[in-house]
Amino acid sequence: MNAWIEAENRHSASNYKPLPVVLTRGQGVWLWDVDGKRYLDMMSAYSAVSFGHGHPVLVEAMVAQARQLAVTSRAFHTDRLGPFLQLLCEMTGLPKALPMNTGAEGVETALKAARKWGHKVKGIADGQAEIIVCNGNFAGRTTTIVGFSSEPQYRDGFGPFAPGFVSVPFGDAAALEAAITPRTAAFLVEPIQGEGGIIVPPAGYLAACREICTRHNVLLICDEVQTGLARTGRLLACQHENVKPDGLILGKALGGGLLPVSAFLAREDVMAVFRPGDHGSTFGGNPLASAVGTAALQLLKQDNLAERADKLGARLLEGLRAIRHPAIRGVRGKGLLIGLDLDPAQVSARTFCERLLQHGVLSKETHETVVRFAPPLVITEQELDAGLDVIRAVFDTVPADRRMPAESLPA
Ligand code: PLP
Repeated sequence: MNAWIEAENRHSASNYKPLPVVLTRGQGVWLWDVDGKRYLDMMSAYSAVSFGHGHPVLVEAMVAQARQLAVTSRAFHTDRLGPFLQLLCEMTGLPKALPMNTGAEGVETALKAARKWGHKVKGIADGQAEIIVCNGNFAGRTTTIVGFSSEPQYRDGFGPFAPGFVSVPFGDAAALEAAITPRTAAFLVEPIQGEGGIIVPPAGYLAACREICTRHNVLLICDEVQTGLARTGRLLACQHENVKPDGLILGKALGGGLLPVSAFLAREDVMAVFRPGDHGSTFGGNPLASAVGTAALQLLKQDNLAERADKLGARLLEGLRAIRHPAIRGVRGKGLLIGLDLDPAQVSARTFCERLLQHGVLSKETHETVVRFAPPLVITEQELDAGLDVIRAVFDTVPADRRMPAESLPA
């Protein structure tokens, strides 16, 4: 095990701090390390592996398409892109889509569309458009995106940053309205903040934002890279409040856990700002990605994964809330996107994840105090209950009275 970790450490930038496990195989909700130990995946690659590892239908779609035609660039039409975007638009209710690869690229696409719409359609003076974002946001790692992050580490040393972003508290619709000026083109928001610590806003927040944005002719753009595609128990998290955004960003699960596939979807007049040459990506919308994306969307519908996430998420939430331990500050989430908030004076989230690893469950902390639980949506009740048993067992090893570093916790 150490040899692989050493090789990685020797040659890789240290921009991640992985848990000490070397994975080699995955199937469904299970992962295996190089020593043959099996783990329950309760993280799903930051919600990208909603269908479980190596779903046979998706792998088959990918392999068949790879044999036929994989990458052409958008210099030509293919017989895969149109059907993919048609299904994506039908399912999300937005008429136009622009395919990209990573979530951050989808967000960048949304920002460009919003600014250009602001300048060319809304009539904001050129170069003056502003976009309102929320404190605690996470939208990726490009220089523009980290420039509007409220997390000092994400920004430290990476400036100068793009101007034109205004930040307001998340969950506060009045603050949004107060921040709107004639220069505001769009409001970019995650319906539930994922990397920010699985923060669920007060009920009615998104609906209030919708109403405010409509009234001020400001685009409501929902970043559903993490919350979208059934993760929170609805196809889109904004559907919990019957909100239809003007722009929508999807990613992660859109690639079926096999490829990076993202998309920006929008109203006709918003997407109409893009002319040939304005924007693009060599790989965005390639036949391989389109085939996998299509199969992933079909599977979401066919297996009713939104309903499944809703039901199993409620079970997980209930199970976690039933655990009585003084280190627990809160349990929150929707569907199968759940955060367990721990008191760092008693146990750090990192230590907790290391303990889970030792007991055969994989997850990852976010923001030092929150352990996320976001298993593949195909998880069964029995598998979920097995995960809960492990979480309870780990709490049994956490002393209730003082902070203990991982090494000193009893085995
Ligand atoms: N937007 C949200 C809400 C995310 O959670 C993430 C990633 O975690 C991104 C965008 C960026 O996606 P990617 O890492 O694929 O660039």
